[in-house]
Amino acid sequence: MPDMKDVSYALCFNCASVYKISNKNQLKCSYCKHCVDIELYKKILGFAKTAVHFGYVYRKKYEEIINNISKRIIPNPIIGNTVEIRLDYFHINKRLMDMDNIAKCVLDALTGIAYVDDRQVILQAATAHSLASIIIITNGIVDLIKPLAQYEEYLFIRVRNVIDTSTVYDKRK
Ligand SMILES: [Zn+2]
Repeated sequence: MPDMKDVSYALCFNCASVYKISNKNQLKCSYCKHCVDIELYKKILGFAKTAVHFGYVYRKKYEEIINNISKRIIPNPIIGNTVEIRLDYFHINKRLMDMDNIAKCVLDALTGIAYVDDRQVILQAATAHSLASIIIITNGIVDLIKPLAQYEEYLFIRVRNVIDTSTVYDKRK
């Protein structure tokens, strides 16, 4: 829990302004006059710190893993603005990140490997599949579900150049 001894400024949870603390027992925002008990303030700040730390560390690690694997598989980045990315995320437990965050992570991690700049990506599709129920893969790509025999959670990434088919990235190889 954060120590408030040397803190002279507080963040207002109501209007998001940073204000100078005048009363250390009850924090009152000088802008919107919103009040918060000091103990509650410390508690919320503690949760926020944990969330930020978790988000940052987890994301960094995730990007590193994708970066390392893709470096070994993808020989050269695609040059044109013709990159298509499909993500299929299979999970048995409750998801820790939403698909938007996962997609952002992957786009960042593949920059410089699958393409030079993520602005080259013209199509991006991300789907989460819960393993808590039956999964029906309609597009016939059976390889998507092959790792199910081994893993309870995985992300299947498909990257391809929609114009120049000679640089198709195929994870099945
Ligand atoms: Zn305020």
